[in-house]
Amino acid sequence: MATAALIDGKAFAEDLRARVGEAAAAFAQATGRKPGLAVVLVGDDPASQVYVGAKGKACEAAGMASFEHRLPADTSEAALLSLIERLNQDEAVDGILVQLPLPAHLDEQAIIAAINPDKDVDGFHISNAGRLAVGQAGFVPCTPLGCIMLLKDRLGDDLSGLDAVVIGRSNIVGKPMAQLLTDANATVTLAHSRTKNLADVVRRADIVVAAVGRPEMVRGDWIKPGATVIDVGINRLPPEPGKEKGKLVGDVAFAEARDVAGAITPVPGGVGPMTIAVLLRNTLVAAHAHAGQPAPGGL
Ligand code: NAD
Repeated sequence: MATAALIDGKAFAEDLRARVGEAAAAFAQATGRKPGLAVVLVGDDPASQVYVGAKGKACEAAGMASFEHRLPADTSEAALLSLIERLNQDEAVDGILVQLPLPAHLDEQAIIAAINPDKDVDGFHISNAGRLAVGQAGFVPCTPLGCIMLLKDRLGDDLSGLDAVVIGRSNIVGKPMAQLLTDANATVTLAHSRTKNLADVVRRADIVVAAVGRPEMVRGDWIKPGATVIDVGINRLPPEPGKEKGKLVGDVAFAEARDVAGAITPVPGGVGPMTIAVLLRNTLVAAHAHAGQPAPGGL
């Protein structure tokens, strides 16, 4: 049986980061300032600390200014809202990202609602969700935007006639993914934890996007031969004896699916690297809008 082509998200993301870097340099030349991203972290969740560190480094590597705000876990909602208000007003800040999850005493929806939608480079603000829903320009969450870029790179911009199944209906991945696929003319099914006969639903799909968070749930015999499979899941298995860390796997049983699919993203090295690259892209777009300049082409 033919083995699926590997969709190399790492290489695509590196190329996107390089293009963003060039456009950021041109922006700095034209305006006298770098595009700026403020990242706010509340508390000391180890995974969040790693993500925030990686975002700051990626910003600087792309020639952007990074403003990190690390606040203690017991920060009050009023203090966080007042920081966001300052960042909304700050002319050096084009994008604002509040790292989720927030400690339980903070109201995530209220915090996100306080971000100026035109600086909401994560695309989580209700205004940006609404803009996506009605087809207006706005910020689209980074992970699904990265997935649609990979899909269009492989299948072309027009997905007419293709059946797509998205598994997972979260606000940050599944729902916006379904909307992006619909906008690209695919016929979309949004499956979730209450979907009956999920394997049969997935078997119809020319495009499968798995965003569940359950290791290797999607089996090889669920995949239609030749389908394009985008695996968003990042799951760490328990460590093998003698090893400190478990292996990272996606939501798709990769070895099985590779024998059936036409193309598939690996985990790691597929969707993961796209998320930060798209965050930089969104920040660059925000900077242009903020400076009253037309959006940079080709990104
Ligand atoms: P979430 O927990 O918010 O949503 C999971 C979704 O899966 C829910 O909508 C639920 O209905 C669905 N689901 C749960 N069990 C199911 C089942 N048995 N059958 C079908 N559907 C089921 O998760 P999320 O934030 O959307 O993230 C999903 C996965 O993607 C996680 O593994 C996460 O780590 C990963 N992720 C990766 C990136 C990246 O950069 N690559 C970014 C975001 C999330």
